[in-house]
Amino acid sequence: MDKLINHILRISPRRDRTEINAAMVDALMDFFHPRRLSIYRCYANSRGTILFSCAGYGEHGYFLHNAYLPNLLLCQPLDKDPLHQKCVNAKTAVMELLADGSHRIVFPVFREEYPAYLIDLSLSEDLSPDQRVTMMGLVEYFANHIALLDYGETDTLTGLASRKTFDKHLFELLGHPAEDPLDSAVSRRRRETASSHWLAVCDVDHFKLVNDSYGHLVGDHVLVALAETMRSSFRFDDQLFRFGGEEFIILLQPTTEESALLALERFRKQVETQNFPQVGHITISIGFGALRPSDSPSRAIDRADEALYYAKRHGRNRVDGYEQLVSCGQLSPHHSPTAPALATSGTPL
Ligand code: GH3
Ligand code: MG
Ligand code: MG
Repeated sequence: MDKLINHILRISPRRDRTEINAAMVDALMDFFHPRRLSIYRCYANSRGTILFSCAGYGEHGYFLHNAYLPNLLLCQPLDKDPLHQKCVNAKTAVMELLADGSHRIVFPVFREEYPAYLIDLSLSEDLSPDQRVTMMGLVEYFANHIALLDYGETDTLTGLASRKTFDKHLFELLGHPAEDPLDSAVSRRRRETASSHWLAVCDVDHFKLVNDSYGHLVGDHVLVALAETMRSSFRFDDQLFRFGGEEFIILLQPTTEESALLALERFRKQVETQNFPQVGHITISIGFGALRPSDSPSRAIDRADEALYYAKRHGRNRVDGYEQLVSCGQLSPHHSPTAPALATSGTPL
């Protein structure tokens, strides 16, 4: 029992998913000595679920990856592994006996109707009744801790990541270290294709009119529906934030400027054609720019904001890129005072 309390005490001060995963791996290894262990973070939306193996113990020993930055090489669709699929369908722990005599057990952690984590262990022997109780206790503790973290990291209206978590995500992205050979391979590929992360600021056009005409509650429903469209329009590893009232930030995974524009245009068009309950049609404007290694969050936002102001001044319902506007002389690359950030400013001209 002392051992359990010790591990719980080590997990409880953690306020970061990667650290919580590390503490959970320690606890599971210490109690159950699994042959293999994987903690999967789940990215679920209406189109399906992707699993990211972010911490555990495997044939090369311990592994731990930044739980906020899914590495595509360590991601797989839920249905790739029948036991994972079975676990999510049953919403409970499931087990199978492997050919080598070991026992594989998968525990789910759910957030509302969606799977949030799967904990997958291969053990030499089946768990004893006492071990089962310990295991269930640890998984439940982990689940509660993750729920608290979700609460702090999530915007309550839309379910997207909140502004509070934005700086943290951006610093992680800008400082993204090559943690292992897989990551180095990815970095090399990124350099070869001259791609980079892109930061986009999206703002609803004339949203004040929506509130004035239909009321604040209907306005809120529009924001919820818009967030859902966002989730279905972008890739699971693009990061979406509600930044302010009707302003959103999209951090696109490394890609070329052309592909970034295509992804943002696809979203803009999807919104334009969508029928929002009561309100009918709305439009959005988007400004975006490349993330630079030396960026601070505010510098990166300033450039995307400038492009957004340009979009607003030139008719709205459009996507503009900072680099493109600078290269065709529509914006001057400024090292001088920047346009005020949208989140703190009034209506753009
Ligand atoms: P444009 O961006 O096209 O220039 O016009 P706008 O009318 O959207 O401009 P502005 O950014 O000044 O207005 C944003 C409005 O969003 C003001 C406020 O009433 C509304 N708003 C901000 N937060 C919320 C929210 O959480 N819910 C609702 N319903 N409305 C919000
Ligand atoms: Mg605004
Ligand atoms: Mg607006």
